[in-house]
Amino acid sequence: MSKLTGHRAVITGGGTGIGLACAKALAADGARVIIMGRNLDRLEAAASTITGAEAIRIDVTDADSVDDAFAAAKAGGEIDILVNNAGIAAAGAFHRTSIEEWQRIQAVNVEGLVRCTQAVIGSMMKADYARVVNIASIAGLRGGAYIAPYVASKHAVVGLTKSLSLEYAHTNATFNAVCPGYVETAIVDNSIANIMAKTGRSREDALAELTKNNPQGRLIQSEEVAEAVSFLCSPLSGSVSGQAITISGGAI
Ligand code: NAP
Repeated sequence: MSKLTGHRAVITGGGTGIGLACAKALAADGARVIIMGRNLDRLEAAASTITGAEAIRIDVTDADSVDDAFAAAKAGGEIDILVNNAGIAAAGAFHRTSIEEWQRIQAVNVEGLVRCTQAVIGSMMKADYARVVNIASIAGLRGGAYIAPYVASKHAVVGLTKSLSLEYAHTNATFNAVCPGYVETAIVDNSIANIMAKTGRSREDALAELTKNNPQGRLIQSEEVAEAVSFLCSPLSGSVSGQAITISGGAI
């Protein structure tokens, strides 16, 4: 029997990047995984690569969509692991950032995460075991120029994680955040393209601009983030809660 046999895990944004790596890691640990996102074709293709995985469409910015997705997920049994991974990033000067753009980032990264957590918290409060892992960012722990809405959203995620760990400390649920530096995924591909377009730099120079933030001088791999998530979901990690664990090659 594997360490997560009998447990059911939802991973939002589980069809790509870090979310997909988390889904594969938790499935390898024995959990039944349900991956959620907006692009159902991509989700189903990803689910077909993971034994027993299910794909369910969700838009975390839409309350009805969240209700429907979690109702469908719970049809097979209660959810006792939630990885809040769905997120978006954008770069630009703060003085040129519209309030609509600000809200677009918060709607996914903060309010979406709140909605998904509220969809499972009721049953988690009564369960013998429950885990919520929020994929924040090193940007949830320190500032960053030209990414203020993203930084603010990830600080909110870290603050929420710490608050929920205290509020539900009397239950068997834990709440933790992981805070990666730059990870080699679509989000970083977009950042590199953005730097190239805005500065005229080569791909190599644009990449160096990102890797200079990591003392190890490289991009992190999604599987390295998933390894930390696997630990935080393990039954023996029950006394680890309210933490924001950096996965950043030593950057703090
Ligand atoms: P990614 O491949 O672009 O993943 C983002 C995922 O979020 C996608 O699967 C996307 O799926 C989903 N998503 C976006 N908007 C959504 C919405 N409204 N409703 C439901 N799902 C939505 O990039 P990633 O790097 O793996 O990002 C995953 C998480 O890691 C994000 O929270 C990001 O902020 C965080 N992170 C990334 C890095 C990095 O350097 N890559 C570093 C630190 C933290 P659909 O398009 O199908 O909806």
